[in-house]
Amino acid sequence: MEFQSSRRSFLTAGVALPLLAAPQAKPTGMAHRTLGKTGLKVTPLGFGGRGTSEPGVIARALDLGINFIDTGRMYQNSERMLGGALKGKRKDVIIATKTGAKTRADALADLDTSLRELQTDYLDIWQLHNKTRPEEVTDELLEVLQIAKKSGKVRFVGITSHLNVPKMLAAMLKRGGVDVMLAGYNFTLKPEVTQAIRSARQAGMGIVAMKVLAGGFARIQNSDARFEGSPSALVRTLKQDGAMTAAIRWALKNESLDACAVAMSDFEQVEENVKALSQPYSENDEKLLNAKLAFLRPRYCRMCGACGGVCDKGVPVPDMLRFLTYAEGYRDFPMARQSYLELPAEARRIRCADCQSCTVDCPNGVQVRARLIRAQELLA
Ligand code: SF4
Ligand code: SF4
Repeated sequence: MEFQSSRRSFLTAGVALPLLAAPQAKPTGMAHRTLGKTGLKVTPLGFGGRGTSEPGVIARALDLGINFIDTGRMYQNSERMLGGALKGKRKDVIIATKTGAKTRADALADLDTSLRELQTDYLDIWQLHNKTRPEEVTDELLEVLQIAKKSGKVRFVGITSHLNVPKMLAAMLKRGGVDVMLAGYNFTLKPEVTQAIRSARQAGMGIVAMKVLAGGFARIQNSDARFEGSPSALVRTLKQDGAMTAAIRWALKNESLDACAVAMSDFEQVEENVKALSQPYSENDEKLLNAKLAFLRPRYCRMCGACGGVCDKGVPVPDMLRFLTYAEGYRDFPMARQSYLELPAEARRIRCADCQSCTVDCPNGVQVRARLIRAQELLA
């Protein structure tokens, strides 16, 4: 059978899907899931608010039943746009936003700004953004979360983590003080991430996935001059019908996952993604995603965090690769550039092209130096 031989070749190459469960016989659907111990009833497909500047797209998502919206203080005008789009609908939606602040005063100032921009007097979920090492969640920041809760401005609190998800889940479960985690999770990751999510969910933590589309690479257009190499070869490899919706179905067949926040930029994506949940995860989905894995292996960082701090010159490798994904995969160049500009000036001065031997060896096969050179060409 063609599918079996294809799967065998990927297994040989060590890049097969990290399947933990047999494909579900029934579709996920849009039936609400309970977000851990918060008790909030969220649709499995959430709206990643960074993806659009069109209020009409939000309205369409709500019409189709989506009730969970994730945004962030750092997503340009996303909160402001949502504030306008959700006027009169506040009680119908669960809003999560986040702060990247590192001090109590800055975080509380961000909270007030978020409330003002979103035109609401409370948030359902407020999160500390992009915590990839346990020590980044300082006692001061944990205390701020509790202050916000006690003030009534926030119902539940959490952290977001692009990298090191199993480690961060374990650390936060041990430490307490958060109700929810927004975690990087997709079909390219190892089974240990799925297992960590299961354990955390069993312990009552609400789990929302981000990066479900593994960088959104299937949306790259043939004409996209920003992508290196051969765009037409890329399109041939990736423009397979349904690869993106298969990625959503893959994530949501994990019933320990309460929702995924997917950035959607237009009506077509909203409708396509909602429709995706009416189909079960299938052998065809697995085939599509396996084909995608083979392409992504040298290009897409799996967010394991193993190379953080490894570059002896000081390049924050996982961060740089994430910014490159914003530009190439999601085609959100402003977000990529803004994120890059927030790095310390010393890190921005380094050029991997001038470095003769790279000390970073990715266990997942990412061609780190080549990808960093590309990132610096695009963003520096
Ligand atoms: S580049 Fe490789 S080692 Fe570094 S975070 Fe990504 S997957 Fe992990
Ligand atoms: S190429 Fe050099 S500067 Fe760039 S990440 Fe590797 S070791 Fe660091």
